[in-house]
Amino acid sequence: MEREFLFLKPNTVRRGLVGEVISRLERRGIKIIAMKMINATKEQAERLYKEHEGKPFYNELIEFVLSGPVVVMVLEGPRVVEMVRHIIGNTDPLKASPGSIRGEFGMSVTKNIVHASDSHENAEKEMKIFFSEDEILNYKLDVQHDL
Ligand code: UDP
Repeated sequence: MEREFLFLKPNTVRRGLVGEVISRLERRGIKIIAMKMINATKEQAERLYKEHEGKPFYNELIEFVLSGPVVVMVLEGPRVVEMVRHIIGNTDPLKASPGSIRGEFGMSVTKNIVHASDSHENAEKEMKIFFSEDEILNYKLDVQHDL
């Protein structure tokens, strides 16, 4: 089992799309094992986007993710990192396939609805910016058969 970190950006909350995003994950059989709505701190935003520090879009991106409440989540499932990256689509909503979350709801590269960690290592690192290990829950989904 693998874990993935997901961050619903402030415009997703302001546009009332939180349920839409969660519903797409649930329908795909992905399990939510932690979730909360927060105002991210500057320190958390800077840690999340550390690899982009100094790039031309960095300041705008940090300002944007601090512009309102966000929803942070930890997901679990087999190959969940690959699965979530596939469901959310390309970074640029214009290049994201129409059925993907960014392809349907993204407005620009910055306002692209969600952040999802791009590797198992980054997922484990990024979830620790927002969650303590005891906030990540252990339970079983009700299913008729193992998927
Ligand atoms: N980003 C941006 N302008 C750019 C490239 C990236 O605002 O020219 C933002 C964008 O919101 C993206 C984030 O930086 O979600 C992180 O970029 P990355 O390449 O890691 O894309 P992602 O993993 O989110 O698809």
